[in-house]
This record gives sequence, C-alpha cells and structure tokens, in this order.
Amino acid sequence: MSSKGSFSLTTRIMLGMVLGIAVGGLLQLMLGEEQDFLINLGLFSLSIKGFFVDGLFHIGGQIFIASLKMLVVPLVFVSLVCGTCSLSDPKTLGRLGGKSVLLYLATTAIAITVAITFALIANPGDGITIPSDATYDAKVAPTLPEVIIGMFPTNPIGAMADSNMLQVIVFALLFGIAMALSGEAGKRLASVFEDLNNVILKLVTLLMNIAPYGVFCLMAKLFTTIELDLIVSLAKYFFVVIFALFFHALVNYTIIFKLFTGLNPLRFLAQMKDTCLFAFSTSSSSATMPVTLETATKKLGASNSVASFTVPLGATINMDGTAIMQGCATVFIAQVFGVDLTISDYLMVILTATLASVGTAGVPGVGLIMLAMVLNQVGLPVEGIAIIIGVDRLLDMTRTAVNVTGDCMVTCVVAKSEGQLDEAVFNDLESAKELEEYNPPTKS
Ligand code: ASP
Repeated sequence: MSSKGSFSLTTRIMLGMVLGIAVGGLLQLMLGEEQDFLINLGLFSLSIKGFFVDGLFHIGGQIFIASLKMLVVPLVFVSLVCGTCSLSDPKTLGRLGGKSVLLYLATTAIAITVAITFALIANPGDGITIPSDATYDAKVAPTLPEVIIGMFPTNPIGAMADSNMLQVIVFALLFGIAMALSGEAGKRLASVFEDLNNVILKLVTLLMNIAPYGVFCLMAKLFTTIELDLIVSLAKYFFVVIFALFFHALVNYTIIFKLFTGLNPLRFLAQMKDTCLFAFSTSSSSATMPVTLETATKKLGASNSVASFTVPLGATINMDGTAIMQGCATVFIAQVFGVDLTISDYLMVILTATLASVGTAGVPGVGLIMLAMVLNQVGLPVEGIAIIIGVDRLLDMTRTAVNVTGDCMVTCVVAKSEGQLDEAVFNDLESAKELEEYNPPTKS
C-alpha cells in the first residue's frame, strides 16, 4: 500500500503496461487492414490513428522517455563525482574499475556462449526461406583502438551534450579525483555536489510518478502497430532468444550472485522488479539508468560510491541480453543462408560481440547495429538482419531488462567484495518504499 491511493508504484506501472497492451491490441483489431478507423462526431470525424496512436500515445510516450533521458547526464556526472571524491584511496578506484570491467565482460561472454549453445540445439533457421527483398544497411562499427581513444573527451561539455557516457564517466572520475586532492576547496565543492545529488535524486522520484502513464502510452502505441503474425513465422528464433534470456537471468545470474555474495538471489530478483519494468517499456538501458541507480543503492544496498561507478559503466558496456540475441541471430542467419560455422568462427562471434558491447550505448535497437559487426566478422551476409528485424522490438524490450539486471548483479558483487553492500537494506523489502513513494509537500 502506498500513499498514492491503494497501489504501489510497481503495481501501477504493471497496470499501465497491461492496459496499454490491451488497448493497443484492441486498436490493432479495430484499425484492421486500412490502418485507420474514423469515428463520426457530427461536425467532423475523428481519426483513431491520428488522434490516439500518432497523437496522445506518441506524445505521452516520448515525453516519458525524454524526461528519463533528461536525468541521465546530470545524474551520472554528479553522483560519480560524489562517489569518486568520497573514495579515500585512489587505488580503490583502480580495483573497482578492474573488477567491474572484468565481471561485465565475463558475464557477456557467458551469455553469448549459452545463447549459441541453445541455438545450435534448437536449430531456429531450419525451414526458413530467404526473402528475395532482404536488405539491411550496415553501419560501420568502430574498431577497438577507436573505442579506447574515444573514451577521452576533448570537450566535456560536448560529451555531455552528445550523451557520450563513456566520456562523461572519464571526465567525472578525473574531476572527482582532482576534488579529493584539492583540500579545503575540494571539500567545499563536495558538499555542493552532495546537495546537488540529493536534489537530482528527488527529481528522479518525482518523475517516477508519471511512469505508469508513460508506460501505458508506449505499450498502447507499440501494440497498435506491431506485426505479431511475424512472430509466428519466426517462432523458433523468437522463443530460443526468449528462453536464453530467461535462462541467463534466472539461472546464470542466480548462481553468480549466490557464489560471490552469499546473499539470497531470489531477494535480488524481487528487488529488480521496477527496474525491469522500466527497461522493458523503454527498451533503453540508458534511459532506465536513473531507476537502476536508485534500485542499486536504495533497494539492493550498494553504496553510492560503488553504484555511481558501476551502474553508468554497465549501462554503457554491459549488454548480456543483447549478446544473447546476437548469438542466437548468428546461428539463425548462418542456418538460413546455409553457411557452416566452425568452432573458431563461434569463438570469433563471442569475442566480437563482447567487445562490440563496450563501444555502444544502451539505446533501442542498437543491438542490431552491433549484430552487423559480428556478422561481418565471420563473413555472414548482413542482409540476414532484415529477416529478424520484424520481431526485434519485443526481443529488444526483454533483453534490455536482462541488461539492467546484469548491471545490478555486478554492482552487488563488486559492492559486496569491497564491504560496501548494506545487507540490512538488501534484506529489507520495506527499503523499496522510499523509491516507490513520493509524498507531495503539504502546505503548512
Ligand atoms: N536496447 C538495448 C539496451 O538499451 C540495446 C539493444 O539490445 O539494442 O540495453
């Protein structure tokens, strides 16, 4: 129960999602082949598509996404500066960085290996014919040296304006270190940053109140336009990806989490509900970052100094769900085009997909761009992407939820290893309350 009537925020977001799917599905049926439906209102007729789908739902959904994205750069910069300057020992930073990057890369490699194995067992490409009009415009993927050089901003304000998160992270780390080394001046500035951080976090909590409506609009629009019959023709591919995603989240994460933290993995998964709902409805781990960060600190108990580093880093370089799609898609496309991949090809796929995830930000559909890079690497036709693109939206939503779960899992493991995980918060389901509720100030 919450102050906002009778439902908690999670329940309200769930309701928004279910209602959105129902309304979208209903509209899809009403619109039929003509793609529109006019209601005669005497003086004029109302176009359902124009008014609801491209109007209300589109505007509502985009405002929701924009308001989440609006928070990302200030939140990451301010909380990372606070986190870095509170680390007394600069060596700690190197250790944190090393552990996080290693864990992120290792979990991604495990994810794609599992995906390839499942896909090779299920053979999703059997019986699928290549459509003659299959075309896909592959973008050129950056090379590893380009990614590394590109992490260092020439202009930090430009990096923030472009939402280049790796550059923002690097600048925030350097700024935080310099602050910690600046004596009194650094201390004064640190207290300003602490205050700023609190205000931004309050803004996150405030904006969460529009989430149920935003989620409703996103789902209603999506399910009015989505071509669900494509899923039937690509059912095997679709369900192998879904199965591998669930397997990775429920089995692999559970084992790794239990092994490294000794804590209850079911409690971890339960605390992830809100974040997964946000990720699912926005299809963007970057846009979900404000919620991920709140969950990591307020529900999972990771300290701000660890979470402010690992969460933005994870949202940029960790994409286990995306890697799973890439593994399954590579096997699928190889089978459709009748290409036999060797063990060394698969190793190349694992390596390329893991590295590709480092240089690309978590936004909707970016996984397909990364897939083009993987396919190129093993000589498969990128046109294969055109075959799976129709079912990718629903998969994108699901894999984004896995991506953010991975970010939080690694955050907990790193925090625990540093003695920076508050188990009382982790074990207290009531800890979720502060995140879920916002009590508007009463006039006195
Ligand atoms: N939408 C995913 C994310 O933001 C990336 C992708 O798989 O396309 O994490």
